[in-house]
Amino acid sequence: MLEFDYDLFVIGAGSGGVRAARIAASHGARVAIAEEYRIGGTCVIRGCVPKKLLVYASRFTDEFEDAEGFGWSLEGARFDWQSLIAAKDNEIARLEAVYGATLAKFNVELFAERATVAAPHGVKLTQSGRTVSAKAILIATGGRPNLDENLPGIEHVITSNEAFHLKEMPRRVVIAGGGYIAVEFASIFKGLGADVTLIYRRDKILRGFDEDLRNALTTAMTSRGIHIIAGHIFTRIEKTQTGLAGHITGGEVVEADQIMFAIGRSPNTAGLGLEGVGVKLSGNGAVAVEGTWQTSVPSIYAVGDVTDRVNLTPVAIREGHAFADTVFGNKAWTVDYKAIPTAVFATPEIGTVGFSEHEARAQYGDIDIYKASFRPMKAILAGRDERMLMKLVVERASDRVVGVHILGPDAAEIVQMAAVAIRMGAKKSDFDQTMALHPSAAEELVTLREKWIAPGEAAG
Ligand code: FAD
Repeated sequence: MLEFDYDLFVIGAGSGGVRAARIAASHGARVAIAEEYRIGGTCVIRGCVPKKLLVYASRFTDEFEDAEGFGWSLEGARFDWQSLIAAKDNEIARLEAVYGATLAKFNVELFAERATVAAPHGVKLTQSGRTVSAKAILIATGGRPNLDENLPGIEHVITSNEAFHLKEMPRRVVIAGGGYIAVEFASIFKGLGADVTLIYRRDKILRGFDEDLRNALTTAMTSRGIHIIAGHIFTRIEKTQTGLAGHITGGEVVEADQIMFAIGRSPNTAGLGLEGVGVKLSGNGAVAVEGTWQTSVPSIYAVGDVTDRVNLTPVAIREGHAFADTVFGNKAWTVDYKAIPTAVFATPEIGTVGFSEHEARAQYGDIDIYKASFRPMKAILAGRDERMLMKLVVERASDRVVGVHILGPDAAEIVQMAAVAIRMGAKKSDFDQTMALHPSAAEELVTLREKWIAPGEAAG
């Protein structure tokens, strides 16, 4: 008789868990996976994918406006929220089915219920009450949106989870938060025609991003009509006859049909039984891991957002893959966390990789900055005066480009390729020697010749 029911039991069928399950199974492991909501996890069901679909929808407004400058006249364009949500739901259901089919193809046994850790080798399935044993347990339970539970009226607010399922398009939206999810939803609702206010407790949106990007996106969002109230928080929220009233510090009251909180996310470890079996958690409840996935209990591992390191889908996927190859496939490798490209799908969008100017200065001391701010070609005829920003951060001693930061159309697409160059250690001279692709916006990256001198700073 076999010692354990499974070689691997994965808790959470999201980005990291599904990848780990599939790869471990492909190496011959007997694998089971439990999912309490829907297969695919946050990214597929209520994160990256549905968000990007809403982003696409929200940008048609610009396209329609710009088209006039190119000779088109468009009358009678109308937007229907219910049609968009139905189309989005179909696509998410399709993707969920694809994920389920992949698990089935690899003979991964699926438990469509919540699971908790009962022992170093034991998993309890909470709905059926069964306990099963596994040689290894992988915690891949992701994260959940934070709410300020002590705020009076918090029961009236939604998070990104609910924003994807609203029955009606809200006409007035107030969003609390200044991170990427907050600014993305602000742009989505604005693009779809809502009045949008963003309330953020700090002085400027997108903490941790390059200052030029933060400033440029603030300017662009403001000039698109998004009202940004920085340095304030809600003190209470009330239901009114016409919707909701959000009272904020300083006494201002903002009225809304929906108030959305996007004030960060926390690892999903509550009630998971981890402390009971000796798995160490960090201050905010994240599973503490050594190296890429090992917890303080040898048979229990964790990957993805539940470890609260770099909370992005490609990172969770790679962690799950490396874990499965290493532990079940006799192919040891670890994840390299350097130069992870990332995007903010606001409108205009941000693509960024490597060090911000501020980080590079702290890391290398002497750096050079190259930047350009210009109206993209399409904007001229369109009569749009929004500017595109491109910025290179270069370590002076080695001439290596250590940061690429872009705000403007297709920034994410451009930065994905720039990330290859950054990882390969490309120098500014390599950028300079690369032939421009004309006419494009991205060609600016290889034609930036003048170092940017800060006002009052001598040339280096
Ligand atoms: P998840 O994908 O969250 O999967 C965890 C799964 O575990 C969930 O399905 C959950 O239901 C399940 N689960 C939890 N507890 C249990 C339990 N006890 N038993 C059974 N099942 C359980 N990342 C990007 O890279 N790009 C983006 O553009 C992007 N946009 C985002 C937009 C939004 C609105 C949000 C919320 C996130 C976004 N992310 C984005 C982040 C991305 O979704 C996560 O980094 C990624 O999903 C993490 O994968 P994971 O496997 O760690 O966890």
